[in-house]
Amino acid sequence: MQYNPQPPRRPPNGHRRPMAQGAPNPRANPQNPPRVRRDASQDYARRKAAYERQMAEKRRREARRKRKVQIFWGRVLVFFVILLLLAVVACVGFALYFNHSDPPPEPTTIRYTFNGDDSISLAEDKAYLGGVLYVDFSDLASRFGLVAVGGADEMRFVIPTGDETDSRGSGSEEDVIFRRDSDLSTVNGQDVRLSGPAVLHGEHYLVPADFITEYMDGIALTREGNTVSIARTYTDEIPDALAFTLKRAAAVDPLPEDTELGDIDPGAIIPSTSVPGPSEEDLVVTFLTDLSAYEEYMNPADRNAYLILVNNDNTVDETHKPTDLTDLADTRKDGRNVQQMRLYAAKALEALYIEMRAAGYKDVSVTSAYRSYAYQTSLFNMYTANEMKKDPSLTLAQAQAITATYSARPGTSEHQTGLCCDMHNLGAADVAFAKKEAYTWLTENAWKFGFILRFPQGKEDITGISFEPWHYRYVGRYHAKAIHDAGLCLEEYLTPAGN
Ligand SMILES: [Zn+2]
Repeated sequence: MQYNPQPPRRPPNGHRRPMAQGAPNPRANPQNPPRVRRDASQDYARRKAAYERQMAEKRRREARRKRKVQIFWGRVLVFFVILLLLAVVACVGFALYFNHSDPPPEPTTIRYTFNGDDSISLAEDKAYLGGVLYVDFSDLASRFGLVAVGGADEMRFVIPTGDETDSRGSGSEEDVIFRRDSDLSTVNGQDVRLSGPAVLHGEHYLVPADFITEYMDGIALTREGNTVSIARTYTDEIPDALAFTLKRAAAVDPLPEDTELGDIDPGAIIPSTSVPGPSEEDLVVTFLTDLSAYEEYMNPADRNAYLILVNNDNTVDETHKPTDLTDLADTRKDGRNVQQMRLYAAKALEALYIEMRAAGYKDVSVTSAYRSYAYQTSLFNMYTANEMKKDPSLTLAQAQAITATYSARPGTSEHQTGLCCDMHNLGAADVAFAKKEAYTWLTENAWKFGFILRFPQGKEDITGISFEPWHYRYVGRYHAKAIHDAGLCLEEYLTPAGN
């Protein structure tokens, strides 16, 4: 079928519409087929089919959207389930961990046998106090024929001599006195320190088991696992003998009649008159432990006996050596030599340690106390050599000047007096000790035992020594209290006589 094109209409303004020469006339294009008349039913079917396709496409899109939403929520669900599982696993893990690190204590009892047969048992919390094995001494006494005299606060156990006429006043009677909640006991009239306080349990006195091994003859104590065997030892020489003896020098020393005070004249130094001295009531101190045996050491009757001032301006000579140096039981146990201080200072320090441990500070120990002139010299020379190694450009005098800022020159060290000690709970003396609770305890309590912090913070200009929270100096309670309350350093407190 041929299509006849109509002549182009002219625009009303008479202009011809511009038409490129030879441009194809779409209407004249033979490839653009003319509309065909179709019948109505055919047209309807096509439209219907198109509509259905459209609807199907719409349904597919809808289905895809729903699936996406389902997948999204599915993932959210999986995420939360995993989160929940992780939380459960974490909780179980924590529970197991804490359970593991702190298992419920199993009730254990310690069995005590006497001469191999009869036995009693004590629950572990009664048998061990502060890590020390205890025995029921009242029970032991009744089995071994000791006589108990006294009451709840103080109990005396007597070994009968077997001879009635000899039992009283003859001097041959042996006894031990335990005091409730006190580690001070008396063996044959001699005060001794137990490794833990005697405790009253019901009507029975429980005491550290090592009392038997340390102070009793004719009786042996052995421990195997949870069984403690206590038995008489029968020897050929003294059959069936039971006695209290002081097997070691653990006794609290009796006060010496006349103590050698060293060769420095303590009268050369007197306390500053501007500082009010404490009253007698100020000097009465109460402790957690029974330290009555130490009172004279902590608060010496001769108040000024220990007021020596040693520093860069007040030196001691090479020959000065105290004559009453005493071992310090609280020397750090790491292989170093047992440190020493003069008797009064050493005993007062012993009291300080008993109280400090009772207050819960058990890891402080003495790292250094008395140092001889020769030792201080070698120490000073070693530090000086280290300084010169660090900086080879230093002269000897310069290196010594640097060393002197942290280590005393020989003759200027208070350690040579035997009246001071370094104590702390660190690997090495360090100002970090000032952050420890034990240091706080010392700053609050050291004066009660007669000690002062010798090189306080803020007094560096006067002492010439930087803050040393570990260095404590014995001066006796009277002066320690005055110095503590006034917030002074020793240089400020002491005035050379005549000034
Ligand atoms: Zn020191």
